[in-house]
Amino acid sequence: MTKMIEIQHLKKNYGEKKVLSDINLSVSQGEVVTIIGPSGSGKSTLLRCINLLEVPSGGKVLIDGTAVRYKTNKSNLLTIRTRFQLSELRSQVGMVFQHFNLWTHRTVLQNIIDAPMMVQKKSYSEAVAIAESLLKKVGLFDKKNEMPYHLSGGQQQRIAIARALAMQPKVILFDEATSALDPETVGDVLKVMTDLAHEGMTMVVVTHEMQFARQVSDRVLFMENGVIQAEGTPDELFRNHSNKRIAEFIHHFQAD
Ligand code: ADP
Ligand code: MG
Repeated sequence: MTKMIEIQHLKKNYGEKKVLSDINLSVSQGEVVTIIGPSGSGKSTLLRCINLLEVPSGGKVLIDGTAVRYKTNKSNLLTIRTRFQLSELRSQVGMVFQHFNLWTHRTVLQNIIDAPMMVQKKSYSEAVAIAESLLKKVGLFDKKNEMPYHLSGGQQQRIAIARALAMQPKVILFDEATSALDPETVGDVLKVMTDLAHEGMTMVVVTHEMQFARQVSDRVLFMENGVIQAEGTPDELFRNHSNKRIAEFIHHFQAD
């Protein structure tokens, strides 16, 4: 099975602070991996290393078999070797954030077509065709000429998902995509994410939605203090109450 993401001995420090220690993870094509764990455990940092928004302090990240190459700069810090490789690899990894980060002064359609035209050099008509089919997929075709601030948080997040998909990524990462939403709009966003999972998209999902973790993911990781403390199928993790920390954590979020 093709490994879409392969992480080997990944470390990340901020100064003296160790945020990730020796993370090893591989995600196969079509696999849905959910990451749960307390605040501050390093979940966002891990996603940011996969999406090359952060340079690791050590170890390797490979996307579909291609390693990001780093070089050491004058201050002895690792940096990414060429901007070309960075933009190329980054466009293979879509990311959806807690705060959607849409361009507020541009229409829904413009938000989606910008990157395919600028980064992938798609023609306007090709980019619009892709955007329109994605807007239909997320149920928001009728909003294509609206400004984002006229939409609910859940609608904006579905636009952000369409924007990520417009780059035709190999992998899509979700960082607490539903945490900032009004409760009544969370379900529509989870439905889009669930549909994507069933269509075979490779996904890494950081979430506190235990029902999503349990029902949709192939594998669940529990992170704490910068390490993967436990991993397994949803059944293994959710039914195994021998690890008290995990049981407490899951219970807390299920009780919400
Ligand atoms: P999570 O997403 O699990 O809540 P994060 O990955 O955001 O955790 O953060 C892990 C730890 O790294 C936290 O202690 C946080 O304060 C620290 N951290 C994150 N980003 C930075 C940064 N840019 N500079 C310094 N410390 C950071
Ligand atoms: Mg986070």
